[in-house]
Amino acid sequence: MRFISTRGEESVTGAQAIVKGIASDGGLFVPETFPAVSGTELEEMLGMDYPERAAFVLHKYLDDYDKDELLAALKKAYSQFDEGDAAPLVRVENGMYMLELFHGPTCAFKDMALTVLPYLLRKGCDLCGIKEDILVLVATSGDTGKAALEGFKDAPGIKVMVFYPDDGVSKMQKLQMCTQDGDNVNVVAVKGNFDDCQTGVKKIFGSSECAAKLREKGYLLSSANSINFGRLAPQIAYYFSAYCDLVTSDQIKMGDKVDFTVPTGNFGNILAAYYAKKMGLPVGKLVCASNKNNVLTDFWERGVYDSKRNFYKTMSPSMDILVSSNLERLIFELSGRNAALTKERMAALSASGKYSIRAEELKQYRAEFYAGYANESDTVDCMYEFFESYGYPMDTHTGVAMCVAQRYEEMLSKETNAEVHPMVVVSTASPYKFPQDVLYALTGNDVKDSFKGIKRINLLTAMKVPEQLKAIRYKPIRFKESATPAKMFDEVLKFIG
Ligand SMILES: *Cc1c(COP(=O)(O)O)cnc(C)c1O
Repeated sequence: MRFISTRGEESVTGAQAIVKGIASDGGLFVPETFPAVSGTELEEMLGMDYPERAAFVLHKYLDDYDKDELLAALKKAYSQFDEGDAAPLVRVENGMYMLELFHGPTCAFKDMALTVLPYLLRKGCDLCGIKEDILVLVATSGDTGKAALEGFKDAPGIKVMVFYPDDGVSKMQKLQMCTQDGDNVNVVAVKGNFDDCQTGVKKIFGSSECAAKLREKGYLLSSANSINFGRLAPQIAYYFSAYCDLVTSDQIKMGDKVDFTVPTGNFGNILAAYYAKKMGLPVGKLVCASNKNNVLTDFWERGVYDSKRNFYKTMSPSMDILVSSNLERLIFELSGRNAALTKERMAALSASGKYSIRAEELKQYRAEFYAGYANESDTVDCMYEFFESYGYPMDTHTGVAMCVAQRYEEMLSKETNAEVHPMVVVSTASPYKFPQDVLYALTGNDVKDSFKGIKRINLLTAMKVPEQLKAIRYKPIRFKESATPAKMFDEVLKFIG
């Protein structure tokens, strides 16, 4: 399978797409065609365990990787998840399910891909005959950074450097990153918000001057951000797996359509669901849930993507994003894979913060997706009521998703002849990762200390506290540096020495 750029002619192998991260013209790599999964193949997947299902889906795209070796890498990656299933599906009531993606090393769904990416990247370098060391640069709104640090720590021939917005991540997220161990890692706070951080990293990637300086020191840049196809591919797998679990547990019949609601920031997770649908998975609507930063909801309503707006800090920080990078891949598909048009729109976005799509593209977008947003108080109410009704505690990001999912279902119930499908809400983080906000939502109580919050939630819910979150309380803070966006590359040079 070849991969092409959303903005031009470049065509590369899977390994090259993963190693490069982003195309030379600034575009994102997308598969030349969507590989199909037939009904028979889907039947076969029913009997597989999670790593086998994932290997099956990944190898459809990454056929330059050895399938057995890929399976072994996936088995190893997902053995770090508790309870033996990396992506368990939990039934809340008939027709409503949670896909829990937070049982990995850092308690958020980013682990699904970032435990696998080191293998994909290292092997990708071998396949491309690359001899240099790799420097992985990450801009994070909180969860990616920790998952990348954990995934790449002490990986031979790789260094990883994470930039996070100084006051744009939760206390727990910051603690998780700043206490990270491993000899090949570095963490720096950036004075600004996530978009400043992401723009800074993109600038380094786009600069031939930076690339030359790094090459002098024996390094090649790569990205672990969600624009890397190596991040996207492992995410496609859990939509297949969730579907298989619904069939094997007799919740649906093979071929029935299922809707998914995804708490969305950079549009990576929900794009993976769209890719699964393109491959033939029977998916109905994809519900794109945003928090108060509702640029995607407006886009769905008006067909105008306008990032020039207030930026709000919310209790779902991993969704506090105004420029959703992966949306470029969807725009490319909606345009009928028109690279010139995609390039034009992305140029408009970077020049004026804005672009629009045509009426027929918008129509197609709305046929596949629904978009909504939840403000802070609606999210809190939803988390509270859901816990009261079902005894199920959820994190703040999942709370946003549930609130929008419920509104979507309510809207359908008012329509005559609406097609109603089972709904899977994607649960992206452990409630213990955002303990103060979760405790507030469930009880109305404020606590100053994250660990006190963890203890109280545990008393209230009897849900097991992840060991890895308990442990960071006693770990020393290793990283205290901060920098302005303009000085980010200086920090990179300092790090690699
Ligand atoms: C990253 C993240 C999201 C948003 O996912 P995207 O792929 O960026 O849309 C949602 N919830 C949590 C907990 C996350 O870490």
